[in-house]
Order: sequence, then C-alpha cells, then structure tokens
Amino acid sequence: MSSEPARRSRGAVLQDVLPESLGFGTIFAPLVVTAWYRRGRWEDPVLCELGPVASSIGAKALQYGQSVFEGMKAYRDLGERSPESGSFLFRPHDHARRFARSARRLGMPELPPEVFVSTVVDLVAALDEYVPGRRGQSLYLRPTMVGTTEDLTVRPATEFCYTVLATPSDALFTEPINVWVERGYSRAGAGGTGNVKAAGNYAASFAVSERLLERGFHQPLWLDAATRGTVEEFTAMNVFVRRGEQLLTPPLSDTILAGVTRDSVMRLVEDAGDLQVREEAIPIDGLLAAIERGEDIEVFGTGTAAVVAPVALVGDESGLRLHLRGHETAARLREQLLDVQHGVATTHDEWLLSVGRS
Ligand SMILES: *Cc1c(COP(=O)(O)O)cnc(C)c1O
Repeated sequence: MSSEPARRSRGAVLQDVLPESLGFGTIFAPLVVTAWYRRGRWEDPVLCELGPVASSIGAKALQYGQSVFEGMKAYRDLGERSPESGSFLFRPHDHARRFARSARRLGMPELPPEVFVSTVVDLVAALDEYVPGRRGQSLYLRPTMVGTTEDLTVRPATEFCYTVLATPSDALFTEPINVWVERGYSRAGAGGTGNVKAAGNYAASFAVSERLLERGFHQPLWLDAATRGTVEEFTAMNVFVRRGEQLLTPPLSDTILAGVTRDSVMRLVEDAGDLQVREEAIPIDGLLAAIERGEDIEVFGTGTAAVVAPVALVGDESGLRLHLRGHETAARLREQLLDVQHGVATTHDEWLLSVGRS
C-alpha cells in the first residue's frame, strides 16, 4: 500500500503519553486507510492523513444508508514472545469475511478479504505507537464501506469508498451493565439486515437506547420481532445466559449477528469443559422467572468493543427490576479472552495475526 505525505506530521501522540483513561472511540489516530471502488474495480488502497472524505449530501450512503462496517482490535503483545513487543490483530480474517457478507447484503462490491486484512495490518504497523499498552486497552479499528454515488435513484451506488479509522480505546463497559428488555421496538426482522453489520441497524436502535440511558440503563435486550418471546441479542453484543452448569446463547439466524467474540467464548468454554454450551432459544419470561426465584444465573454480553460485559440489572417497562449478583463466569471468560488477545495465553495462536512496527 502506498502512503501519502507526512506520515507523522501531527506531533505523534506516543503510546506512553496517551491518557490513562482513553474512553471508547473518541481519540482518532492521525492515519487512515482509503480505497475507492470505481468503474467496476477496486483501486489500490492508500494510507493517508485523517481528514474529511469529500462527499455530497446526495451520496447513497447518506440518502439510503448504503453503509456497512466492522469493529476489530489490535492488542499490544503483553506475552514474552518478543523483546520488541508488537501487537496482535484478533481473528482479522473472520472480520474480513463478515465485511464481505455485509457488503453483499447491501448490494455493494466485496472487498477481497486478503485486501481487507493487508490494509489493516499496514495501518496498525504504521500506527504502532498508538496501540496502547495496558491490558484491556487496544487500537480499535473501524473498517467502513459507503456508497458515494450522488443521485437519488433508488438503486445501489456504483462508486464506493472503503476506509479504516483507528482509535486507541479502553474496553467498553468495564463495569456490570443494566439492561432493558425492549418489548415495543425490535432490532431485526426475518430476512432483514440484522445478521450483517449495516450502519442502519445501529441508527434504528438510537431512539430506544437514548430513552433507556435517561433511566439508568445501558443497553436494550432485544427480543425476536415475530413473537417478542425469546431473547436475541443487544445492539452490539451477543447475549449469553449461564444457568447452573449450562451456558446458553440463541442459535444464529437471519436476525442475529454472528459475533466473533460469541464464537471465541463458546470455544473457550468448550476447551475448559466445565460448562455445557447450548445454542438454543431463550424464552424471556422463563429467564426472568428463574432470576426472580433466585436461581444460579448469570447474563452477559459479548462483542469486540466490550469483550465480555456482565449484566447487573434487568428491567422493563412494567417496573420490573431484577438484580444479578454473580459475575464469575463472565469475569473468567473476559480474562481468558484478554490473555489470548494480548498473547499471554499459549492457546489459540491461530486467532492472532502478529503485526510488527513499520
Ligand atoms: C458487531 C456486533 C456484535 C458483536 O460481534 P463481534 O464480532 O463479537 O464484535 C453483536 N451483535 C451485533 C448486532 C453487532 O453489530
């Protein structure tokens, strides 16, 4: 990938002078990847300085939401593997394949997965000093593809812009969260776009999540749109329920996003062998009743941004408020996953792609 001028012209914010608390997604690193799709083909990606991307208000992405994204992370190597600690991308090929799936679903060209991975590797290598050094922190990466063609015909764009933004971040939700069982709106319908990372899925959740924040809740827990009887997932996290020795999560469907973290958590639990992992429908009423009876239950979310987020409180419109006290499975899985992601564990090397400094 070629790079445009002045790679480090904006006084580098070095790894060790990044603030102790980074927040999530608010500090942008000064370099981005950009690649254009024009006249039926992808042009060579370039590394360039962060700045506005020229776009008309008539662009398909803005008018019709033709926009897809990924969320993935580069973690500092905290293992003993190399003195020159580089960083690791976590399961980048899985994100690349999902990005291609999302694009297809929205009538966009696929970015070849190997191009996706190489752009991300080049960006992380160039931004090595922005990969923060504390456990749980990461350089969060946001690949995005938008339709840029400017006309209002209700057809897909023919020109597209692929970008990768990088932001040194803390994990989202480091404290247990309060979740709201949403019985009115739904996140995804059968045959819709709920199983891909379409930007519009998030926009459709905003009115609900803003209303919840005012009431002290962090995330809606979405139910299936057809019956409103079973648990599907959170806005940006899959959901798990540990009930005694069983770890349950809804089976993948066209209304559930196939999370890379979801899959990783299931694999770690299968490795450990102490809990039985089951992909099965989780009726909401049964779950709430079991929590109310005081059964041994944990609920947690999984996603790249949060890693593993334990649930402290479940509430709903009727005034129901149920506290969940145990978080030991969620806490253990979070640490196990971070061990793998930071290269501290000796298992699941196949999930890591090592990136040196460029
Ligand atoms: C991105 C996302 C997730 C989490 O997926 P990961 O690959 O684990 O980051 C879960 N649900 C939805 C709806 C998402 O958009």
